[in-house]
Amino acid sequence: MKFNTKTIHGGQQPDKAYGAVMPPIYQTSTFAQRSPGKHQGYEYARSKNPTRTALENALASLENGNHAMAFGSGLAAIDAVLKLLKSGDEVIATNDLYGGSYRLFTKVFEDFGIKFHFVNMENAATIEEFINTNTKLIWIETPTNPMMNIIDIEAVSTVAKTHNVLLAVDNTFATPYLQRPLDLGADIVMHSVTKYIGGHSDLVMGALVVKDKVLANKLYFIQNASGAICGPMDCFLALRGIKTLHVRMQRHCENGKAVAEYLANHPKISKVYWPGFKTHPNHDIAKKQMNGFGGMISFVTKGNDYDEAIKIIENLKIFTLAESLGGVESLAGHPASMTHASIPKEEREKVGIVDALIRLSVGIEDAEDLIADLEQALSV
Ligand SMILES: *Cc1c(COP(=O)(O)O)cnc(C)c1O
Repeated sequence: MKFNTKTIHGGQQPDKAYGAVMPPIYQTSTFAQRSPGKHQGYEYARSKNPTRTALENALASLENGNHAMAFGSGLAAIDAVLKLLKSGDEVIATNDLYGGSYRLFTKVFEDFGIKFHFVNMENAATIEEFINTNTKLIWIETPTNPMMNIIDIEAVSTVAKTHNVLLAVDNTFATPYLQRPLDLGADIVMHSVTKYIGGHSDLVMGALVVKDKVLANKLYFIQNASGAICGPMDCFLALRGIKTLHVRMQRHCENGKAVAEYLANHPKISKVYWPGFKTHPNHDIAKKQMNGFGGMISFVTKGNDYDEAIKIIENLKIFTLAESLGGVESLAGHPASMTHASIPKEEREKVGIVDALIRLSVGIEDAEDLIADLEQALSV
């Protein structure tokens, strides 16, 4: 099956009970057993729920994996991956990381004796310097949030395999429509389903997808043992979102390109971060590993001024000022005070998250309207 067909049919069959085409919302905590231990595959809904199974199968299919686990949020999914580790283990993570991931690593798991190295991975060879016998996991995001850096997944996976270290890729920004890390050698793909996969800003959810059965069983164990699962109604909504993932992503890419090009030619703007530009430092890698460049864009005005950036954001009318990304509606955000406020200012500025940086999640409205909105916001 090719990708577009998979979004509609991947891992899904009509429901066994009555042939419902959409998986029913099994809003139940428990399942009747004929005799102790004799049941129809489901016992208690923390362990498994048929609506969640349908979603997990769909996600596994989209990422070309064999197993998926859905969680109550993207961070709950990351939390489950870190629980594969033990005290004394070390992790090498992208330096330009989603703020919540950074907070979970440094404020929760460091206290459990896990050590994190935050590394610029634009050159995969740099990772080698930080690997030692305690290194168990490499955690990457590409494109990175919010600087849109691109990391060569295949090159990092070669390093990971040489040293027998797990490679996990946060694929939230790209989605499996644009990039499939398991095909490039990653061991674990993580998603904040909240964003593009759900696609309608109506749920919070996370997921992991893997190929390897042994690794899957460890993660299933953690999913059930720690219990950070998502409810069946949210699984249904995510499944509904997935059915249009390919169409939405195609439009996100088209609108992203139009908005990025508009901004790059605007006299007030000094820098636009978008991997589709030939001038992007890792454009060639983006071209190699992605099927498009997406709708996430960050930019800085020539004044590089906090007050000006806030004014521009406040002036926007169609772009809504809000946390999050990846929904059908366009959103604007201010990373330094919103998504990345949990990262200390010096750390933020080292990677380019200056106080004047504005991040856009370009939605699927008419590009002309989005550009007109930016035009009026920038001209006051
Ligand atoms: C939002 C986000 C997360 C966290 O996901 P939640 O669903 O909000 O818990 C992780 N990584 C990236 C890149 C994100 O954008």
